Amino acid sequence: MPNKVKNFLWRACKELPVKTNLMRRKVLAEDICCHCNLKAEGGFHALWDCAALSAIWEADTNPELFAALVWTIWSQRNQLRTSNKPYPLTQVTPAAKQMLQDFKQDKGEAGMGVVFCDSQGKVIASLAEKIQLSPSSDEVEALAAVRAITLVMDLNLPSFIVEGNSEVVISALRKEEESFSSFGHLISSIKHYLYSCNCISFSHTSRSGNSVAHSSAKLARDIDEFSVWMENVPPQVNDVLLADFG
Ligand SMILES: [Zn+2]
Repeated sequence: MPNKVKNFLWRACKELPVKTNLMRRKVLAEDICCHCNLKAEGGFHALWDCAALSAIWEADTNPELFAALVWTIWSQRNQLRTSNKPYPLTQVTPAAKQMLQDFKQDKGEAGMGVVFCDSQGKVIASLAEKIQLSPSSDEVEALAAVRAITLVMDLNLPSFIVEGNSEVVISALRKEEESFSSFGHLISSIKHYLYSCNCISFSHTSRSGNSVAHSSAKLARDIDEFSVWMENVPPQVNDVLLADFG
């Protein structure tokens, strides 16, 4: 459940700034509900009891959707109160369902970023990709290494260093024996590439030392699928790059 919904429910249990409370605190002069224009807008009425909400509450809900609906009903009331934009009550259920869906999607996706630099630290290429979140960050890192090496093969670079945040992945790449970790298959395919190329070395960097790749990874969540920037970094990452190498 999204945090804003949890926080809201917690607050709703205590005290919402509904009209009855605002009138009691002399913020408002009246407390009539703006949906039904019949009853006072107390917490129970605003979120549940108002006749205008009956269509929303008649439909089937599960606990998750219930919470999202309560949150959306309140934000709809707030929007009507504070802006001129129309927000029909028929939009409440679709908006609540969309919010839940977005939240689930956010949880299931991660960004991956790789930056290639020459020995002077000049950026040769960078890539960002949105990937399904794997159980461990080491797997994401191993996947990033596969992507990096595939790209570098395409670019025909004379030699390069792969820098990674994950010490586990980097040491698995350096070892000769097979890796039996959850990302062992990725390590094997990387090593397969290495047979045709003697020009790759691996180094482990901390998350802070690798902030350009890390920022690209964050950016990747917002891009469509897969992007490569040659001799440059994603425009949004430029500030980080300047801080890193500047
Ligand atoms: Zn009402």
